[in-house]
Amino acid sequence: MGKPRPVTASLTRSIALAAALIIILLIPVRGEAAPLLRLGDYGDNVIRLQNMLLSAGYDPGPIDGIFGPRTQAATIEFQRSAGLLVDGIVGPQTWGALERLSGVSRGTGPLRGRIIVIDPGHGGPEPGAISYWGDKEKDFTLGIASKLRGYLEAQGAVVLMTRYGDYSPGHDWSPRPDELLARVSIANSRGADLFLSIHINAYPKDPSVSGVMGFYRAGSWESQRLARTLANSVAATTGLRYIDTQVGPYYVLNNTYMPAALMEIGFMTNWHDVNLLRQDWFQDAVARGLARGVSEYLAP
Ligand SMILES: [Zn+2]
Repeated sequence: MGKPRPVTASLTRSIALAAALIIILLIPVRGEAAPLLRLGDYGDNVIRLQNMLLSAGYDPGPIDGIFGPRTQAATIEFQRSAGLLVDGIVGPQTWGALERLSGVSRGTGPLRGRIIVIDPGHGGPEPGAISYWGDKEKDFTLGIASKLRGYLEAQGAVVLMTRYGDYSPGHDWSPRPDELLARVSIANSRGADLFLSIHINAYPKDPSVSGVMGFYRAGSWESQRLARTLANSVAATTGLRYIDTQVGPYYVLNNTYMPAALMEIGFMTNWHDVNLLRQDWFQDAVARGLARGVSEYLAP
């Protein structure tokens, strides 16, 4: 007891830190030349970069101002999809492209400010169901998800995908990822408003079965409403039969904290459905149906 000096010293330090922080905050960020950033860099510009990657739909890891491997992976992913030189270094070209894109996703629209996680089923070593003709479920789910992302971003939503390509979610964090945990962590750690998992059904016993089904977690009325809205909307835009909406005992539904739906769109065991799912216009119709369902649910 009675040690006034350290208290005073730490108080002085706190005041100095607060003053430094205020000065940093007062330095205008806009109008600055685009900084060159690469692996190992840190600071406020890295935070800006991470926020822009996130709002453009790429996962830079925690927003911590450190340009680590995850931020680099997100940068590379973005450069690849934007048709830029893929070097993982953020120069003027990459800054410019990111600023345009994050401007768009902050734009006006009924879904502005909403964070939506799209979960394309399966991926990487796990193909999901395989049709009698060799089509893989993981390819159809990613195709639909990528189109859906565009529709949701056009309405102002911030969209995160659990995977952007043909790999297991989480492979960028760990060489042997727990892909199901990665799927739910992406949604839970961002406080997403909605989680939407996309799958294609399979029913080998009866290849004539075709249609759309929605699944939700037991006890969640919101998720039930979401799943039913989405299934009906997809049926309306695609002409697929609405089968029903039911409780699904799936990990991604039971372990997400927000309204969540798992959609089974068509059947890999039905030739008619597979033939449709192969067509770009049909995947587009599915995506439009899902997007319409999301806005009906979130912004009626
Ligand atoms: Zn599946």
